[in-house]
Amino acid sequence: MNTEHSFASGQEMLAVREKAFAETMDVVCQRHPHYQALMRQQGLSRADFKSLRDLALLPLTHKADYMAAPETFTLNTEGLPLEMQTVWDTMYTTGSTGGQPTPFVSTSFDFFNILALQRNMLRLRGVHSQDVIANLFPLTPAPHGAWIRVLHAAASMNVRVFCAMPGQASPYFELGHGLDEVVQLVQSQGATVLWGVPSYIYRVLGRAGELGLRLPSVRLVFVTGEAMGEQARSDMQQALRRVGADSAQVSISYGATEFQGGLVECTPGAGFHNPLPGQLLIEVVDPHTHQPLPDGEPGWVVLTHLQRRGTVLLRYALGDTSVRTQAPCPHCGAITDRLIQTPHRVDALLKVKGMLVNPAVVLAALDEVLGARAYQVQVRPTDPAQPLAGDVLQVWVEGAGDAALQQALTERVKQVCGVTPQVGLGADPHSWGADQHWKRKKFVDLRAH
Ligand SMILES: [Zn+2]
Repeated sequence: MNTEHSFASGQEMLAVREKAFAETMDVVCQRHPHYQALMRQQGLSRADFKSLRDLALLPLTHKADYMAAPETFTLNTEGLPLEMQTVWDTMYTTGSTGGQPTPFVSTSFDFFNILALQRNMLRLRGVHSQDVIANLFPLTPAPHGAWIRVLHAAASMNVRVFCAMPGQASPYFELGHGLDEVVQLVQSQGATVLWGVPSYIYRVLGRAGELGLRLPSVRLVFVTGEAMGEQARSDMQQALRRVGADSAQVSISYGATEFQGGLVECTPGAGFHNPLPGQLLIEVVDPHTHQPLPDGEPGWVVLTHLQRRGTVLLRYALGDTSVRTQAPCPHCGAITDRLIQTPHRVDALLKVKGMLVNPAVVLAALDEVLGARAYQVQVRPTDPAQPLAGDVLQVWVEGAGDAALQQALTERVKQVCGVTPQVGLGADPHSWGADQHWKRKKFVDLRAH
């Protein structure tokens, strides 16, 4: 049986998953502090979980549960084989607004599986042995799995990689490069794959264009970490054409620290493929009943780790909505979980100036006008010293623009949410305070709660 990448049929995939799930439940019921307590509380035991169908007996795990006590989500591995006991590395999730990053622990056993996951991501995205990957992620004060896993991905497929080291991770760090140096490196190293955050890659391509540099060897662009719509993809495609990378493809990934990788496209628009279905189970559940939904229906995206020995999450709500299918991919034929709608954050509605505002709708409207250009929406008090002075909806946009753009943005935001924003053009993204995280948040609420 093939446990590594492709399955010949849905039944074969299910058989591999059932075996992994049974092993996982054996260790979870004996060694997982959080789920042991949860099962006691729910009156459940190992015998209740005869097959994957019974997984839905467990209540959902929410981000808040995990963040409140991350150590209770790590298995007690005493007495297990050495590779299942030894901590190989610890990554951190970015946490909620102003929160501490949450540790995600991988044993050696987990790390070997992460290598297989990363290799399958590269295979799905069409990397071959002659490729040269440019790692354009910045170093961050806490490792999130973006910067370091690019190196591991390259190792898993024996392909070349170099790190451009953009920016300064901290005042104690001196190895970072400015934009021009990064652009020069991408050219001189002959990068064929650019891998990073979309807004930064867009800046790299824009600067290369300004400097008159050509990057014809670039054939793939891997983006993750920020929401990216089709308008932004087509803007990036144009930026690629301007530097001579005419046929380069932009491949979007739905990534999370909890995956230690991401769900990727085999071709633009083909949906986000779970790269290692024997290891990760992706389900979509009803937001009210929390029960699994049939394929094709929209709901919350839920992750279950089928084969981990460090941090283990079962029925973990990632905080996004999407639609799943398990039908073979019409493009690459892969049989796996595929999310066929761009995942959207499940963000609660916010009250701004007395209006209920849906951040997702505001972001979609701005994406439509701004494409891949970096921006941030902030909700903040008009005067922090006077709590009753009211709120401001502020839109900061990177780069130049004229009064017409300012007016277009103001009108569009007002149209979709009823609140007239203040629009600031020419803002420096570094001043947005989001660069400590590689995921730049597009919508932040800066009001004290
Ligand atoms: Zn495919």
